[in-house]
Amino acid sequence: MNQRPFIPFHRPLIGNEEIEEVVATLKSGWLTTGPRTGQFESEFREYVRAPYALAVSSGTAALHLALAALGIGPGDEVITTPLTFCSTVHTILHVGATPVLADVDADGNIDPDSVEARITERTRAIVPVHLGGLPCDMKRIWAIARQHRLRVVEDAAHAAGAGYRGFPVGAGHPPSGERSDAVAFSFYATKNLTTGEGGMVTCHDEFLYHQMRVLCLHGVNKDAWNRYTEKGQWFYEVIAPGFKYNLPDILSAIGIHQLRKLDGFIAARRELAARYARELADVEGVELPREVRGRKHAWHLYAIRLHLDHLAIDRAAFIQELRQRRIGCSVHFIPIARLAAYARLAESPRNHCPRAMEMFHRLISLPIYPGLTDEEVLHTARSVRQVAIEHRKAKVFAAGGTTY
Ligand SMILES: *Cc1c(COP(=O)(O)O)cnc(C)c1O
Repeated sequence: MNQRPFIPFHRPLIGNEEIEEVVATLKSGWLTTGPRTGQFESEFREYVRAPYALAVSSGTAALHLALAALGIGPGDEVITTPLTFCSTVHTILHVGATPVLADVDADGNIDPDSVEARITERTRAIVPVHLGGLPCDMKRIWAIARQHRLRVVEDAAHAAGAGYRGFPVGAGHPPSGERSDAVAFSFYATKNLTTGEGGMVTCHDEFLYHQMRVLCLHGVNKDAWNRYTEKGQWFYEVIAPGFKYNLPDILSAIGIHQLRKLDGFIAARRELAARYARELADVEGVELPREVRGRKHAWHLYAIRLHLDHLAIDRAAFIQELRQRRIGCSVHFIPIARLAAYARLAESPRNHCPRAMEMFHRLISLPIYPGLTDEEVLHTARSVRQVAIEHRKAKVFAAGGTTY
């Protein structure tokens, strides 16, 4: 039998514009952070409508810098979600703080009620994650933060191009003045906008931006450096033991063009999501992700949730069936409590998140990315339908004991 070509879970979409800009950068003689990173930052700032944007080497670096620059450290507790990538929680530990896990809502995003229940006098910050590109209930989270005087750092690794109440994620909500302290984006290879590896952290506070910028590059105070070089001196000042988190121009060259295409990318993802929704709406045993009013989904992921009580197979077998039909799937995410590094954290009853643990066993992320063809999305949707129907659980009727 002739096998159809495999549909990978992800394929990046890099055009000639990106390639030519990288080549031009290599020829320019300026490889590390320079004019192209400056341009990428200023265009990103405009895109998300935030006054400050700092390009960094990863989304993880963006989170770490924000927490460090906000002065979060030993003795502090930071509340986040268990349905996230491990580095969201790593960065909390990296600043010396204690991560606390709050449970998720029906969409898999952090549940504000659960956040509230976790607050103690040690709580300093909340790190909500816009899972799959669907913004969290930020209005509630901002209200909780205001009431308890907490910092908010959004993990927007999936949410470049997403929107909240009419504004891009990163802008906050200008009419009410509500916003987070910092918003961290990732440009990892699989993300909505990619530079291969990279990230951006945006904020509205000049002082915070300055702190992050200094910490981003070894703690070198650039303003002091400028002053000294004006005097023709070799001296520069290091005001803190900083990190090496800057984004080089070679990568910003890719980002500049990816950003210009981002709205088109999101529109393509939106169409694919609508296609899945049309094809799968009536399939019993499969629950579909939704878009919530007032929140523009970036459709970074299309995570279906199996109704395991309708099915005779589990999630792993379902993924295997799809693989046999030449479709690559993934799971977002293995809950933090299931990772070996966090076994001890999970032991504390305070970190128990039953809804996240239950949802984990039902999650399958289907391929969704610009460049996925209509034929591929149809084959994927029809395969999901077929597997769900073929492995439907036999129903037992109490009355006659008839099974079918
Ligand atoms: C990808 C990702 C990160 C980390 O981004 P990197 O750029 O890979 O460091 C953080 N949080 C979430 C939810 C992610 O998906």
